Amino acid sequence: MIRLYNTLSKQLDLLPNTGTLHGDLKMYACGVTVYDHCHIGHARSYITWDVLRRWLEFRGHPVKYVQNFTDIDDKIIERARQDHLTCEQVADKYINSYFEDFDWLNVQRADEYPRVTKYFWAIAGWVNEMLVRGLAYEVDDGVRFRGANFKTYGQLSGHTACEDFYIWKNNPEDKKMFAGGRPAWHIECSVMIRETLGESIDIHCGGHDLIFPHHENEIAQSESLFGKPLAAIWLHNGFVEHRGKKMSKSEGNALYLRDLRANGIDPNMLRFWVLQAHYRQPLDQYGFHQCYMQWRSLRNRLLNAPEEGVTPGFVEAMDNDLNTPVALAELHREPTKEMAGLLGLKIEHYPVPQDIRALADTRAVLRDQRKWAEADAVRDQITALGWEVHDHNIEGRASVTVSR
Ligand SMILES: [Zn+2]
Repeated sequence: MIRLYNTLSKQLDLLPNTGTLHGDLKMYACGVTVYDHCHIGHARSYITWDVLRRWLEFRGHPVKYVQNFTDIDDKIIERARQDHLTCEQVADKYINSYFEDFDWLNVQRADEYPRVTKYFWAIAGWVNEMLVRGLAYEVDDGVRFRGANFKTYGQLSGHTACEDFYIWKNNPEDKKMFAGGRPAWHIECSVMIRETLGESIDIHCGGHDLIFPHHENEIAQSESLFGKPLAAIWLHNGFVEHRGKKMSKSEGNALYLRDLRANGIDPNMLRFWVLQAHYRQPLDQYGFHQCYMQWRSLRNRLLNAPEEGVTPGFVEAMDNDLNTPVALAELHREPTKEMAGLLGLKIEHYPVPQDIRALADTRAVLRDQRKWAEADAVRDQITALGWEVHDHNIEGRASVTVSR
């Protein structure tokens, strides 16, 4: 029986059985605002929800998973102005970047990726309905939700004082856009959830920083319109930090996925690093570079491990609020490729790139010539590129092989 820590009830809740009774489990995660490339904090969130989805399906709950793209936003408009592009071109560029990064990380694609600009009419319809029902009111620069009307505000975050908030913003500079304005952020998710999954869903996921006000406001909007719970279970992943401080783009300490990719980092190592902490705990990106040896040791065990088999200890750990650190320990104790696959770890032999092969051959020649210092410099060069060097002696001649 799967139990998950529900931010709403503040306890471990059994998975709702709505999915098994009425078809697929409905799961939604707030997606990225597409004005920049994704960093290691995004990787943590979407790897976590990817592992959750794999686990739910393994345990017999097919999932319909939706994750949105916020493709209209002040930051996107600013980026478009800077780069002399349209907002759509900016959004397309970073959506492509998102897929490159997350395909690389072996994150399974969602069933749907709704984009805000494709839901303008639906959102405008909601705004109108809220105005008609007195749930919202017009101001000079848009439409605001009437917070005081929603009596159960604060159920998720404890912030019980609901201030009015925008659901629509008029922007006189954006005359070309629909109605000279655009949706505010919170309303987007409420509408896209309703349009893709329905009025009530099973699991709503997001980063810890979205609990307030974003998710609280999603609840206020959806529940005041439909009078039923927006989501049965609310899950939130912890922050990624940098030496105890918040990791962020503005601090300049964020590791970008495309840089890790360009540097030949093994995507499995990144996934391993994410999963060796529990998803609700903070995770320090400083530790990323230090998990290399642990990952290598697990990977080496997995290379020759049996294909099939899932141990009771692994099931127990994963059922218990997705306790991946314990699941990884279990995998190390009794490795199988099936359990690795359930965590999204892809175990394969890596083909050696030509430049690495050439360096290895150079080292072999230098060793034959007894140029030890130069040979060691080449070895260090190969190691720095993430490969391990193995020296052999075959019939009196040096031979060098490499592995990851
Ligand atoms: Zn959202």
